[in-house]
Amino acid sequence: DSNPPPRRGAANRSAVPSPASVNYSTVAEKPVRQVVSASDMPPADNENDDSEEKKEFDAFGCDAELVDMIKSTMLMKHPNVHWNDIAGLEEAKRLLTEAIVLPMAIPEFFTGIRRAWKGICMCGPPGTGKTLLAKAVATECNTTFFSVSSSSMASKYRGDSEKLVKLLFTMARFYAPSVIFFDEVDSACSHRGAEGEHEASRRFKSELLVQMDGCIDGTDKPVLVLAATNHPWLLDSALLRRMEKRIYIGLPDLAGRIAFLKSNFSEVKLAEDVDFETLAHELEGYSGSDIASICRDAALAPLRDYTKNLSLDECKAPDVTKFDLPLEMRHFRTAISRASPTSSPKDIEKYIKWMEEHGST
Ligand code: ADP
Repeated sequence: DSNPPPRRGAANRSAVPSPASVNYSTVAEKPVRQVVSASDMPPADNENDDSEEKKEFDAFGCDAELVDMIKSTMLMKHPNVHWNDIAGLEEAKRLLTEAIVLPMAIPEFFTGIRRAWKGICMCGPPGTGKTLLAKAVATECNTTFFSVSSSSMASKYRGDSEKLVKLLFTMARFYAPSVIFFDEVDSACSHRGAEGEHEASRRFKSELLVQMDGCIDGTDKPVLVLAATNHPWLLDSALLRRMEKRIYIGLPDLAGRIAFLKSNFSEVKLAEDVDFETLAHELEGYSGSDIASICRDAALAPLRDYTKNLSLDECKAPDVTKFDLPLEMRHFRTAISRASPTSSPKDIEKYIKWMEEHGST
C-alpha cells in the first residue's frame, strides 16, 4: 500500500472550502479530534503513540503528576454549549468561527498569508458571555481544548506556574490542533512591573510570551490562544501585541435581549400581557448574566405569590402542577426593579474607548 499513514489530527479532511462558503453551524460536524475525558485523551493514531507521548514528556523532563493535573483540571470535556445556546453576539460568533473554528477544522487552508491568528482576546464587561463563547468554541471545534483559570494559575500554582505554562503548551502542541483558553487573563498578565506584582507572576507572563511565540511556526498543527478579560487596560503590552485579534463582547443589543427572553421562557406558561419586546427595552444596560438572574427571579414569582400564605405542609401537597401559574408582566417588572445593571454607562464608555484605541475587529 503506497498510501502514507494518516497524519496526527488529519482525520476526515477532504476538499478545503473557503471560509465564506462555510455554514459555521455545520463546522462542528467535521471532527478532527474528540476528547472524551481526562483519562481518555485523544485516541492514538497508531500503536506507537503511547511511547511517542512518553518520549515527548520525558524529553520535557516533567513529572507525570503535573501532566495528570493538567489533564484533569484543564482539559475541557464536552462543555456542550452550542452557538445557539448563546443569545445574540452574532458578530462575535462569526469572528470566533473565522479565527478559531475554521483554522482548527481545516488547518491546511490557513497557511501563509491566511495563517491563523496567534492569539485572540475577548474583552468586555463581566457577565456578557465570554466564558460561554469559549465553551461554545470548544464544542464547535471538537479538538483538544485546555481551559485555564489565570487567577488560580497565578495564586494556586505560584511557584509552579511557569513550569505549568511550559508543559501546557508542550501538551497542546503534542495534541494539536489545540486551543488554550486563559480566562481572566489580566489576573496573571497585568502590566509588567505593576505595583505589587509577584515574581512568580512575572515569570508566568514571560513564559507565556515565549510559548506563544513558538506556537505559529508555519506548520499545519495550530495551537491557538484564546483569552478573556474584564479589564483589558490592565494587560501587559507585550501580551497585547501577541493577541492579534481583540474582540469586544459587549452588553446584549435589543435583538439579543429578545432572543434571550424567548429562549429562557420557551417552556414556561406566560400570561397574555407578557410582551418580550417591551421587556427587552426595559432591560437595556443589563448584561447577559444580569438578565439570566432576572429571568430566574421572575420565573419563581408566581410560586412566591401562591405560597405566600401557605404552610410548608400545604406546599408539599402532591400536585405540583398547581404551582405552575402563568408568569405575568408585573412579575418581570418586579424582578427588574430588584436588580441593578452590573456595569454602569460610564464603565461601558471606558470599554468602548479602549476598543477604539486597541480593538481589532
Ligand atoms: P463572562 O465570562 O463574560 O463574565 P459568562 O460567560 O461567565 O460571562 O456568563 C455568565 C452567565 O451569564 C452565563 O452562564 C449565562 O447564564 C449568562 N449569559 C451571559 N451572556 C449570555 C448570552 N449571550 N446568552 C446566554 N446566556 C448568557
